[in-house]
Amino acid sequence: MEKATIEQFKNLFLEIISEEEVFEAKLSPTTLEGDDVDIVSTEKANQMDFRLKARNAIYLNKVRKSLHKIDEGTFGECEECGAEITYNRLLARPTADLCIHCKELEEKQENQLVDRNRDSSKIGGRSLPIEQLEKGFHRDETGTSDFHLSHGSYQDIVG
Ligand SMILES: [Zn+2]
Repeated sequence: MEKATIEQFKNLFLEIISEEEVFEAKLSPTTLEGDDVDIVSTEKANQMDFRLKARNAIYLNKVRKSLHKIDEGTFGECEECGAEITYNRLLARPTADLCIHCKELEEKQENQLVDRNRDSSKIGGRSLPIEQLEKGFHRDETGTSDFHLSHGSYQDIVG
C-alpha cells in the first residue's frame, strides 16, 4: 500500500480516537443530588452511558489496533492469509483485519455453526434413536411443556 494511503488511514484513526474521547467526556457524570426521581433518571442515564461506553471501547480498541498495525507496517494485510485487503474494503471498513475472501469464509463457518445448533435443538432430532427420546420423555416430572422437556432431555443425552 502506498505511503500516502496509509497516512490517510492513520489520520482517520487519530481523528476517530480524539472525537470519541471528546464524546466520552461529554457523557453525564454521576450525580446523586436532588430528589428520588432525579436519582432514578440519573441511574437510567448512567446505564445508557455504560452501554455506549462499552460499545465505544470495543470500537476504539479496533481503531487502536489498526493504528498499531500502521506502526508495525502490517496495516492492510489479511491476518488470515496475508493478502492485501483492497482499498475499497478498507474505505468501507477501515478496521477490517481480514481480506474479503477470508471474511466470507469466516462468516460461512459461523453460519454453519448456527445451523448445526438450530438442528440439534429440533424436537426429536432425526439422528436420535426413538428409545433415547422416550427415555428422555420418561424424565417428565415437572409437567411443563413438551417442547421444553424434549429439548432438555435431548440436551441431557448429548451433553
Ligand atoms: Zn485473507
